[in-house]
Amino acid sequence: MSSYETACRYFYQASRQVGLSKNMQDLLRTPEREVKVEVAIERDNGEIATYIGYRVQHDSSRGPMKGGLRFHPEVNGDEVLALASLMTWKTALVNIPYGGAKGGISVDTSQLSQGELERVTRKFIDKIYDVIGPLKDIPAPDMGTNAQVMAWIMNQYEKYRGFNPACVTGKPLELHGADGREEATGRGVAMVTRDTLDHMKIDVTGVTVAIQGFGNVGSYTAHFLDELGAKIVAVSDASGGIYSADGINIPKLIEYTKDTGAVKGFPETEALSNEELLTSNVTVLIPAALGGVLTKDIAKEVKARCIIEAANNPTVPEADEIFDKNGVIVVPDILANAGGVTVSYFEWVQNRQHFSWEKSRVRSELDRIMNDSFKLVWKIATDKKVSLRVAAYILGIGRVGRATVLGGI
Ligand code: NAD
Repeated sequence: MSSYETACRYFYQASRQVGLSKNMQDLLRTPEREVKVEVAIERDNGEIATYIGYRVQHDSSRGPMKGGLRFHPEVNGDEVLALASLMTWKTALVNIPYGGAKGGISVDTSQLSQGELERVTRKFIDKIYDVIGPLKDIPAPDMGTNAQVMAWIMNQYEKYRGFNPACVTGKPLELHGADGREEATGRGVAMVTRDTLDHMKIDVTGVTVAIQGFGNVGSYTAHFLDELGAKIVAVSDASGGIYSADGINIPKLIEYTKDTGAVKGFPETEALSNEELLTSNVTVLIPAALGGVLTKDIAKEVKARCIIEAANNPTVPEADEIFDKNGVIVVPDILANAGGVTVSYFEWVQNRQHFSWEKSRVRSELDRIMNDSFKLVWKIATDKKVSLRVAAYILGIGRVGRATVLGGI
């Protein structure tokens, strides 16, 4: 099943619950615009390299479209479309005035020098600058991109449109970024984990956690859960995983990965594979890397009582059904990882007002939005006797549907 078919399956489940007509379903799920461009650069050795870049603008009924930019060899049009649709429901779920979009370039950044990465980024913006902008579509970081890439995007966009920091979010602090943006997705994941455990009547102190992925989202999730007193016993990244029954020293692991670039070999831990991590004996499992990792076969072996989807699309539908049957609570991506886009919104607001907020304000506004959204989704799930995923889609689709009808077609 393709990524977009997977995303649509959840969309249809929720649409049936809210009684959307077939015509309305077609209107809401169809993307407004799909852009596919050639991104050709000269490499450092003088050779020409050609990559394919994508930007899918899914829905703008509630405001300018918003979504990350992923640089990864597995990026393809189907996946970008699926992720763009998730952004539409996600921005609506947390009730920020945006639609949904997503982009990416099919490129292995580990094979590029810093100069080549910059040329790829600038060339991509040369190709799409006309369809993005502060009131049209605002990119942000995702897998394989970071604040430096956002800085190049802003600079390249401004060559066409003049000073315009609100054209992209996730920028460095020195270049109109927001204090608290880098940590925001992980902080939101940790908040949602605490709320979920509260509702399950499990104390966060000492609760065992496994996290797949130790990049931006995984490492900040670990940091905030560690602060809340959780015991993170397993962590992995593309290099493999590590385990310690006594709990991993997260501050030291963060320092270690800054030096070595990977979690592998961290002292006083045992090695474990990514598959072993997903099926390890923990209360909370947090996929925070790639999509599609929770397959049907893995789902049967999962021992966690709740799964917090920090990554986008980590659970295939067949696995979701198994979790449902086994009573495993799954907090869906469009709720769990919405902290990133929420603070991106705060960054955009600050850029448009030319007024900076204190980090404490960013954090407290983020915590409020995440907690309120969680409560709403939990209530819909309880009232309608549906999974948290279907409840989250019901909330998002309902808001987008009403905005579409009110605005007129
Ligand atoms: P990142 O590039 O900073 O980190 C990705 C991590 O995943 C790295 O530790 C990498 O080693 C690991 N990884 C890659 N392949 C792996 C594999 N096969 N097995 C195990 N680990 C693997 O990316 P990120 O920004 O942390 O994003 C992680 C996920 O969170 C993605 O699904 C992304 O779409 C989602 N997300 C990110 C944000 C954000 O603000 N960055 C917001 C919402 C959702």
